[in-house]
Amino acid sequence: MKVTRATFDEVMVPNYNPAGMVPVRGEGSRVWDQDGAEYIDFAGGIAVNVLGHCHPELVKALTEQGNKLWHLSNVFTNEPAMRLASKLTSATFADKVYFANSGAEANEAALKLARRWALDKHGEDKNQIIAFNKGFHGRTFFTVTVGGQAAYSDGFGPKPGAVDHCDYNDLEAFEKLISDSTCAVMMEPLQGEGGIISPDADFVKGVRELCDKHNALLIFDEVQSGVGRTGHLYAYMGLGVTPDILTSAKSLGGGFPIGAMLTTTEIAAHLKPGTHGSTYGGNPLACAVAEKAFDIVNDPAVLEGVLQKEALFRELLADINNKYHVFSEIRGKGMLLGCALNDDYQGRARDFLVASADEKLMCLVAGMNVVRFAPSLIIPEEDIREGMARFERAVATVANAK
Ligand SMILES: *Cc1c(COP(=O)(O)O)cnc(C)c1O
Repeated sequence: MKVTRATFDEVMVPNYNPAGMVPVRGEGSRVWDQDGAEYIDFAGGIAVNVLGHCHPELVKALTEQGNKLWHLSNVFTNEPAMRLASKLTSATFADKVYFANSGAEANEAALKLARRWALDKHGEDKNQIIAFNKGFHGRTFFTVTVGGQAAYSDGFGPKPGAVDHCDYNDLEAFEKLISDSTCAVMMEPLQGEGGIISPDADFVKGVRELCDKHNALLIFDEVQSGVGRTGHLYAYMGLGVTPDILTSAKSLGGGFPIGAMLTTTEIAAHLKPGTHGSTYGGNPLACAVAEKAFDIVNDPAVLEGVLQKEALFRELLADINNKYHVFSEIRGKGMLLGCALNDDYQGRARDFLVASADEKLMCLVAGMNVVRFAPSLIIPEEDIREGMARFERAVATVANAK
């Protein structure tokens, strides 16, 4: 059966508007479409393909487990899930893990746990959840309401209540909002979808201190920033601030859907048998692939390599900007970088994405004013240089058309 991009419009719900070409194969940081055209991948499936496409070790883990056991449900436990949880807890502050299938589900679990913890320990009045404008936490109704863009949660009827927002990096506004009625604060330790915005050191420390003062749980959403993306295993490790709950997904499975919520023994105790669950969460197939991805990423040489690749990206982007003067700032950390457009190009991030696609380069945007790169953590230098040569041609096209 022959399918093309036109088939999408015939048979798919129109909530996405995918690119015109249809990719059929990937290897490392290169992807080929139906016509055999070769692309360089700086998008990484939106910060997911942490080891590129079809990494031989992940393919091996997938096929080996695929020949053994795929799915059981949580009526039974399984070896890959317990091994992965052991590795996640030894490498982080956490003692306990809950597995889900996506970032939104991991966050949903975190929010429900925080509410239940507060109810059990402090009574029903301690229910406020604070999050930050421009934050993104997923698309379930609870997580999208906690996210900081009302446009994404409007239009679906009554929202989950007691959710408040203030500006990221505005400690004063946050201090005014938090109180003893606050049960949890959810934040990305590097805002991704919102425009690649790093937290100020004083801000994160201040948020932690105020959470402690008011007995509120601090939830770090590391769905995008986690698993080596910033050159640290998790971004919190580079900030000197430890959350009470951490969520991970995207890079965690290297392309296989999985999410995880990590927390301490004391907090975890509030999700008693029957309080929450998932049919697929922690299935052996996903956990076997994630375990292998985790083993490869949690290696000082790989994490150090992320910072070297960041330096090369920044150097080449600065060269491009010296010629074409399109960016006001290159920001972000590790292999999660954003090129913020200057005043002359406001609102035009998508034009750069389209011009890049024409040059056979896959990249991302983060809002209307930031071009985003979230490639494989092990993208070869040659692919970075070739991808940047293509990006330069794309930038030239947009700049010359002005
Ligand atoms: C992508 C993302 C999510 C949602 O993850 P899904 O797997 O799409 O549900 C949540 N939080 C952050 C920070 C993300 O970047």
